[in-house]
Amino acid sequence: MSDETENYGLSTRGIRAGQVRTAEGEQSEPIFTTSSFVFESAEQAAARFSGAEAGNIYSRFTNPTVRTFEERLAAMEGGEKCVATASGMAAIHAVCSALLESGDHIVASNGIFGSTALLFNNYLSRFGVTTDFVPLTEQAAWEAAIRPETRMLFLETPSNPLAEVADISALAELAHHNDCILVVDNTVCTPVLQQPLSLGADVVVLSATKYIDGQGRCIGGAVVGNRELVGEKVYGFLRTAGPSMSPFNAWVFLKGLETLQVRMQAHSQNALQIAKWLADQTGVQQVYYSGLENHPQHELAKQQQKGFGGLLAFELDGGREQAWRFINGTCFISITANLGDAKSMITHPASTTHGRLTPEARAAAGIRDGLVRVAVGLENVEDIIADLEKGFQAAAG
Ligand SMILES: *Cc1c(COP(=O)(O)O)cnc(C)c1O
Repeated sequence: MSDETENYGLSTRGIRAGQVRTAEGEQSEPIFTTSSFVFESAEQAAARFSGAEAGNIYSRFTNPTVRTFEERLAAMEGGEKCVATASGMAAIHAVCSALLESGDHIVASNGIFGSTALLFNNYLSRFGVTTDFVPLTEQAAWEAAIRPETRMLFLETPSNPLAEVADISALAELAHHNDCILVVDNTVCTPVLQQPLSLGADVVVLSATKYIDGQGRCIGGAVVGNRELVGEKVYGFLRTAGPSMSPFNAWVFLKGLETLQVRMQAHSQNALQIAKWLADQTGVQQVYYSGLENHPQHELAKQQQKGFGGLLAFELDGGREQAWRFINGTCFISITANLGDAKSMITHPASTTHGRLTPEARAAAGIRDGLVRVAVGLENVEDIIADLEKGFQAAAG
């Protein structure tokens, strides 16, 4: 359907884009579990290797199942090219390795995914790429942090777990005015709720492990953007350095894309209802969810996103002890720090995802001891609320 893809709606793209049927006439996409591909002749092998003829050579370079996933996700994000990777972190690493060089500088938002911050601080720094972190929502701080050698702005919106929302269009303008690219990690929203490329971002990175899989089975990631940055530079790095996506995982993810639209809507609906309920409970100091009208960037979130997503956090006034009692008091909600699963998940950020930060750094990031994060799943919302009710009872006891 490639020529007409642009005219179709998001669900249609998620279900139809990228499929090329084989001579067997299969309805569901096949998994090509092959490491290499066979040529008809020595001449053809030479032509494939020289690039004179397009086609498969080796699955680190291209694989038909992986290509279907890539074309489908590119169609959904509205990008010219998508490159699939072995994990979300491999996607971020590939973007930095392909697009930056020694001496370059990154400005990134505070509170990005922990491994991303470690990659920037502990590993890219060894190759002469330095990073400064700024508050996500403070445009003036982004502006002040940009230096002549800054080449990349990097952010996640909404942030996790505090659900702050960045103005993507304004930051894209700032980036381009300063000869930088804007990279947005779209893991939490997915293209269903937010399309950063259409707002001016240059590159989107995603962890497919989360909502794209949606049922907690596989690790994977992707980079989406234009032909030059992603189709040539990021792809060139990836096929050489090697963190490619396996065909089996690509198949799980491409099937995930088929239901992504309805799932994201259902996650968002459940989360909004739960956020409103939480705001009315005694002992809750604050609920962090951009769908609530008193959220500081609620209007921006409404404009920029098609829904508010499945991730929320709330603060209990009794500190860590009470937060742990609450978590232990729930019954079926999984105690795990992941997100983006049909199964609801609960975690205590201060002692898990943000446990390695110093108390001062945690305080600066706004992660207090009473904070509890819920990645709202797709169970019946009244059952999730009843389970959280058990948490409140345990926390009070
Ligand atoms: C999980 C996650 C990543 C890393 O993805 P992996 O697939 O675990 O490597 C990056 N960014 C965000 C926002 C994430 O939630």
